[in-house]
Parts: sequence; C-alpha cells; structure tokens
Amino acid sequence: ETSLRMLVRASRLGSRYVLVLAEDHTEQHRLEEVRRDFVANISHELKTPIGAVGLLAEALESAADDPEQVRYFAASLQRESLRLGRLTQDIIELSRLQSADPLDDPEIVDVRQVIRSAVERDRVEAEARGIEIVTRGGKHATVVGDADLLSVAVHNLVANAVHYSPDGSRIGIGATVTDAGVVEIAVTDQGDGIAEVDRERIFERFYRVDPARSRRTGGTGLGLAIVKHIVQNHGGDIRLWSQLGSGSTFTIRLPEASQATVPARGEHIV
Ligand code: ADP
Repeated sequence: ETSLRMLVRASRLGSRYVLVLAEDHTEQHRLEEVRRDFVANISHELKTPIGAVGLLAEALESAADDPEQVRYFAASLQRESLRLGRLTQDIIELSRLQSADPLDDPEIVDVRQVIRSAVERDRVEAEARGIEIVTRGGKHATVVGDADLLSVAVHNLVANAVHYSPDGSRIGIGATVTDAGVVEIAVTDQGDGIAEVDRERIFERFYRVDPARSRRTGGTGLGLAIVKHIVQNHGGDIRLWSQLGSGSTFTIRLPEASQATVPARGEHIV
C-alpha cells in the first residue's frame, strides 16, 4: 500500500527518476517480505520434528522394560532425525541458490546425462513399489549451466512423481528440442494430479496439497521451490500440466546451449 501511494505521488510529480525509485522500493519490500516469511516458515517446520525428537526420547526412557516399545520409539526417533537432516539439507540448498549464481562457472551440460544421473537416484524406491520409470527420446541436447544442480532439479521432479503415484504405475521422462531452440525435459506420472487452485502454489516454499501425505513420504515441502530456483537460475522456466485423478506432467524448459545467454548475477533470484 505504501508503495502504491509512492507510485501515485511519483506519477503526479511526473518524475521518471522518482518512479524508478518507487518501483525499486516495491521490489525490495517484496523481497524482504519473502525472506521474513521464509524464516518464519523454517522455524515452524523445524519445531515439529524437534518437538517430536524430545517427546520420543522421553517415551523411550519410560519404555525401557518393553523391548517392542523400545524398538517402535527408536524407529520413530530415527525417522524424525532423518527428516530433520533432509529439511536442513534442503534449507541450506535453497539459501545457497538464493545467494549464489550457478552460472558463475558455466559448463556445457549433456541433458541425457543429467536425466540418467537423476533417474538413477530414484530407481531403488520406484522398483520397491513396482513403479516403472521409462526414459524416452534419445535426441542429443545440451544446455549451459551446472550439471549437478540440473540433476538435482530433475531428480526432485522424478522423486515427487514416485511419491505421489500409486504402486505399479508408470513414470515417463524424456527430452526434446523445439524449433525455437528450447530444451524441454518432461516428467509425466499417472498419480493423484494437482487441482487448479494448487498448481501455482505448489512451487512456494513449504506449500503442500496434503501435509500429512507429504510428511509420510518424507517430504520437506521445499522440493519444487528448489527446482524452480535452479531452473530460473539457468534462464529457463517450469510448466505444469495436470488433471486431478489422471496424473501430472512437469516440464523444465531451458535454452539450448547454442541459444543460451547467461543471466546477469542475481537477475532471476527471488
Ligand atoms: P514435498 O516435499 O511435500 O513433496 P514439493 O515442493 O516437492 O514438496 O511439492 C509440493 C507439493 O506439491 C507436494 O506436497 C504435493 O502435494 C504436490 N506435488 C508435487 N509433485 C506432485 C506430483 N507429481 N503429483 C501430485 N502432487 C504433487
């Protein structure tokens, strides 16, 4: 509201200089708000597993004579500590992405290689649930950037596809290059699908359609926010097609290596 008032005043003054300042102020204000929300969310997200660890430790102590209960509480403790570890790792990854430019030291990245290494990380969990991961489209494509980060982005999409799909279903992943020189990496699942109201919001940090389900699969609520940051830092974007009940397709779009212009430091970072 303050920024809006400033803009109105600036346009009355008719000064372009003041107008630019007002816009900067709006952007700065928004970034500050985003950061404040993020810190508040982190505290909230950390409180749950930390609280659980404390309670489970107490329960473990008082169940010392019952081996079955001891095993149960110990397993829960282990699960919560793993969750805390993953959450910390994701928070660190996201802050790193917000303050550093992965294109500082860019390399030519083979997209097929990225897909191969990403899928490798999800294979064990998928196989355990009878989910088949089908890689298609063998076309050679290259982009400019950081192979490890791109592999994290694709892996996060495939991991979600596994988490939000029924046992025995199929996940497709492939890359194509459009005539306009855009490399499209698409991950398609036959899972729950995502309702229209949630489609924009799932890229926000800590937003989940079903928090209990996300927690059960060990989710941190940061996976897609990380994907979005990595893709934007590479000068690309991410699109989502989905229908409730019939599945989703997430498509990462990146400029082909020959078309890529490396974004200026911090340009895409929110
Ligand atoms: P999480 O750790 O909860 O999976 P993400 O940021 O990766 O966090 O995803 C945010 C939310 O988006 C998930 O909690 C889930 O509700 C929804 N979601 C993500 N990917 C899919 C998918 N392939 N199918 C259905 N829902 C999905």
